[in-house]
Amino acid sequence: MSYVITIDGPAGAGKSSTARRAAHELGIKYLDTGAIYRAIALILAEAEVKPDNDEYLREALSKIRVELREGKVLVNDFDVSGEIRTPEVDELASVYSALPVVREALLGLQQEQEKYGSIVAEGRDVGSVVFPDARVKFFLTASPEARARRRYAERTSKGEPADYSGILSAIIARDKYDSSREAAPLSVPEGAVYLDTSDMTEDEVLKFILDHVKAALSQ
Ligand code: C5P
Repeated sequence: MSYVITIDGPAGAGKSSTARRAAHELGIKYLDTGAIYRAIALILAEAEVKPDNDEYLREALSKIRVELREGKVLVNDFDVSGEIRTPEVDELASVYSALPVVREALLGLQQEQEKYGSIVAEGRDVGSVVFPDARVKFFLTASPEARARRRYAERTSKGEPADYSGILSAIIARDKYDSSREAAPLSVPEGAVYLDTSDMTEDEVLKFILDHVKAALSQ
């Protein structure tokens, strides 16, 4: 029997690395729903489809085909995996993902991934809206400072320019926006295991998740 594990939470709480590693350890697929929102936001912005016109948005969305293949994100067969990981796309994804018309259009694509087998899905509403019947749900969070430190370390380790206070204020602003938006605001899904990862290493978070999942699967 296939199953779904969901991990929700704000940016920088350690969701992506945990979800990717947990999926690997469990031998199942990893679904990065943020990558889908990022890809759609990038393409809509490039096509100059403004967020305030539902009709144009619907039409544009009907022509965009997003696929997740072997860890890559393809839009109409173009690989955008690199382009979607920039601070500009952070902002764009936050803006476009707040629109109900965008969320509706992407719901089916996310849900249908379950057809191909068990998954660890990561996002902002995967445990509440996309997979409300998931076998185990987690909500990972961390203080804004801990999350900013991680983002800073991630950028500098890649040799990218980074400014700690700029990253911190962007995180605080994005949290506020993601939590206060009307469509699927960031919230702790019902029944989710809540974990503050501020003082935990990646390995500790992974162990916590795997212990919980294994206990749930053995019941
Ligand atoms: O997780 P990531 O930072 O890649 O997500 C980018 C943006 O996409 C988030 O800031 C959030 O606004 C949006 N998102 C969302 N729902 C999801 C996943 C991401 O609204 N399930």
